[in-house]
Amino acid sequence: MNKLLKKVLVLTLMIAMVFSIAACGGDESTDDENGGGTEAVTYKAVTEATFPPFDTVDEDGNIIGFDMDLMNAIAEDQGFKVEYVDMEFDSLIPAVENGDADIITAGMNAMDPARQAKVDFSTTYYDSKLVVVVSAENNDINGVDDLTADMKVTAQIGTTGADEAEALASEGKIGEAVILNEYSSCILQVINGDAAACIVDKPVAEAYIKSQDGKVKIVGDEMGAESYGFAVQKGNTGVLEKINTGLQNMIDNGTYDELVAKWFN
Ligand code: GLN
Repeated sequence: MNKLLKKVLVLTLMIAMVFSIAACGGDESTDDENGGGTEAVTYKAVTEATFPPFDTVDEDGNIIGFDMDLMNAIAEDQGFKVEYVDMEFDSLIPAVENGDADIITAGMNAMDPARQAKVDFSTTYYDSKLVVVVSAENNDINGVDDLTADMKVTAQIGTTGADEAEALASEGKIGEAVILNEYSSCILQVINGDAAACIVDKPVAEAYIKSQDGKVKIVGDEMGAESYGFAVQKGNTGVLEKINTGLQNMIDNGTYDELVAKWFN
């Protein structure tokens, strides 16, 4: 009888220990930096991270860029947290439409009726243009009008650059619009000579030229003006209002200008 009691006691102690360890683990995973207040909600933001300086990855694979810094500043101001997920550009709108993601932070042109029909955009936060990029050694193409029916032109899938390249192809002004998943591959094809040109956003082309001096250049006039906005699911006014309020606060308090200086100078 004594032995049985001892066994029951030991077993009870073991069970108690297991529960207290589990409780510790639980405490850790629900860690709250505000020290006991209501926990900040975390929104899932999606991007396509081959688009520096707006969206890229650091040496450790963390998603960084102007878009992330700006959204993080907005989030801090408005009391929410953001986690970023990288995906192909043409998957971004579907992800927000079907509720897999909360926010698009991807240098996305908001002045696009087809997109506006699918998602709601924030106030715009950056004005941009599309440009034609060719190899630095190419002296034949000095603008979009020098592209000819035997040429391939690259652009990233689902982007305004792709719309432009596809329009040129259907008008017979170029031979083929080569639509690739990543902007970086579009530029590589131009450097390799597989394609004559790439159509891409001007600030992104300028950043590439700065980092890879002498490989490619921008030619001719700017095309297609655009304004970038963050996007949320249609009707998600709660998140949209936080973004718009936070964005205005970041403009008013100078954070926006600091981030422009950090990423574009
Ligand atoms: N600004 C372009 C667009 O809206 C490209 C954006 C991107 O490739 N991340 O389509």
